[in-house]
Amino acid sequence: MRPDRLSGYYEAGKETLPPPERQRYQEAWLRRLVRHAWRHAPGIRRRLEAAGLRPRDIRGLADLARLPVLKKSAMPDLQRADPPFGGLAGLPREELRRVFVSPGPIYEPIGAAPSPWRAEVGLYAGGFRPGDVVIDTYAYHLTPAAHMIDAGLLRLGCTVIPTGPGNTDLQVRVAQDLGVNGYVGTPSFLLTILKRAEELGTRLALEVANVAAEPLPESLRRSFEETYGVLTRQGFGTADLGMVAYECREKVGMHLVEDAVLQIADPETGEPLPPGQIGEMVVTVNQPAYPMIRFGTGDLSVLTEEPCPCGRTSPRMLGWRGRADEVTKVRGMFIHPRQADEVVARFPAVIRYQVVITRRDHQDEMTFRVELGEGADPARLQAEMARAIQEVMHLRGEVRVVPPGTIPEGATKIADERTWE
Ligand SMILES: [Zn+2]
Repeated sequence: MRPDRLSGYYEAGKETLPPPERQRYQEAWLRRLVRHAWRHAPGIRRRLEAAGLRPRDIRGLADLARLPVLKKSAMPDLQRADPPFGGLAGLPREELRRVFVSPGPIYEPIGAAPSPWRAEVGLYAGGFRPGDVVIDTYAYHLTPAAHMIDAGLLRLGCTVIPTGPGNTDLQVRVAQDLGVNGYVGTPSFLLTILKRAEELGTRLALEVANVAAEPLPESLRRSFEETYGVLTRQGFGTADLGMVAYECREKVGMHLVEDAVLQIADPETGEPLPPGQIGEMVVTVNQPAYPMIRFGTGDLSVLTEEPCPCGRTSPRMLGWRGRADEVTKVRGMFIHPRQADEVVARFPAVIRYQVVITRRDHQDEMTFRVELGEGADPARLQAEMARAIQEVMHLRGEVRVVPPGTIPEGATKIADERTWE
């Protein structure tokens, strides 16, 4: 693994912009994008009109909140009502070059621009360099993931072998025959390929991987990096939006690309929430062919604006935190079962738990009921866990130790027992 793979920036000027300048850059493209969509995408124009807005009303990032969230779950209906794209394509039919078909179905049009999904920025940050020879193992048909990464790699000056998924033995053979040193695809398939090569008595010369579409446990990343010498970083994107965020060398969340604006919003009202709170990812991308403006992904995340030691100045998205339809609101804050898992994971003594939300004197109360293993110190655990709850969920929570066997097998992780009379 070459450490110099993680130095430098793809677009030096852009990734290190001081925040006020990043905002000016984004506001300039946002105004252009909204004007373009108003003229060319009747579906967007209708949404603006319904909100009583004209392009001149969207001057800055703060004005975005005046627009309702375009929910991903509503896309199939929108497209059926106004086929084929729901009026959301930003180019006339004859200028579209590809149309992807995502589950729904949702049709995603794209124009002739060479890398409209901007994956090169994230690939570079994750260690890909000109001259790398890369197998792209995402599916090349219907959905756009393979093409997004393919276009970014070409932009970087890499050589792409469009192997697609499956055919493990052929992947190993191709990797050997063509001197492949880069991989893109899911982490689980990377592991499959590395293990198959071992079984075949060979070792691949893979040096760098960009993985997405599945969680990457740190233990698996360590195995890729330490056992196999494959520098592994993650990207986050969707079929509708392209690449939105990526990891740098620090592996502390994912930097947002400068051509996307991510708001973490209240899943019910669409109101942007302050950094540190969990909410739905609502994204606007600088993509005139398919101008997604305030697109609600249905995924939850948390944003931080703390500086990153790598020198990039963009906010970072702190991982995927579940689906918006699984959240519960407690004292005005959204909580998700994954946050509860994150708290409990810090306490190996806890063998089973359940979070119970109740209401007393018109106030929500959150209680972690925990069953402990042999030899645990309940008083100490209660105090430490209460601190962890505050840290992870930004909420006060009580911890109650209950006798083993109290929490039924298969109980829901968050039990909402509030009554509202
Ligand atoms: Zn960084």
